[in-house]
Amino acid sequence: MGKGRRLMRPFFLFGAVWILSSFRLLKPALVVVDAGHGGKDPGAHGKVYKEKDITLAVALRLAELLRKDSHFRVILTRDTDTFVELVRRADTANKAHADFFVSIHCNANPKKDIHGSETYALGEHKSQDNLTVVMRENSSILMEEGYQRTYDGFDPNSEEAYIIFSLMQHAFLKQSLRLAKKIEDNLIEKTKRPSRGVKQAGFLVLWRTSMPSVLCEIGFISHPQEEKFLASSAGQEYIAQAIHQALRQYIAAGQE
Ligand SMILES: [Zn+2]
Repeated sequence: MGKGRRLMRPFFLFGAVWILSSFRLLKPALVVVDAGHGGKDPGAHGKVYKEKDITLAVALRLAELLRKDSHFRVILTRDTDTFVELVRRADTANKAHADFFVSIHCNANPKKDIHGSETYALGEHKSQDNLTVVMRENSSILMEEGYQRTYDGFDPNSEEAYIIFSLMQHAFLKQSLRLAKKIEDNLIEKTKRPSRGVKQAGFLVLWRTSMPSVLCEIGFISHPQEEKFLASSAGQEYIAQAIHQALRQYIAAGQE
């Protein structure tokens, strides 16, 4: 009998490990949803709407979808019209040990005919267009008190400052790019608008996050038709659904 028990021991151990790993898989994934800009920082302007209001509406809608889904838990970096420093947004995700960080923004371009979505992971920009986008988004820190200290003297308006992003790689780059691709694929399907693809640039809000992290430019507020779409509740619903679906597909595929 004693010998039998000893023989069974590895099976008990295997069972315990299996049960524990199943619990880990069953645990809902924590998503930090980050509505770009807010408060004194309006972000980009359309003809009628401000970026900060559209990003908040989409973030709230996405949070609602995630809360109804047992696979996820959610934290918002802001749920009202308030100013939140970029570094604090990343801190919120790190402190909560989040599994994903999704920052939502609207794009803008002086050429009013440019439209479509693009999703970024942290990295070196490959074109002047992408540099223009990241410089505009990062310039939010100029409204933060003591930004030079917080971001180690980083000047968001200096092209040279962005060389730093060619020298470093986000620990979760591969995963971030995979999530970004799923978001773009789902945006095409749900919103029937063109995707401008998955890109990389030195977004300060993604700089210090320690989980797969993306910044989604959901569309161009400078494009009159797209501005209307982004501000409409149907448009916001489609975008939120696309990001939700992308996160679901990501966790269903496993986090290898
Ligand atoms: Zn923005």
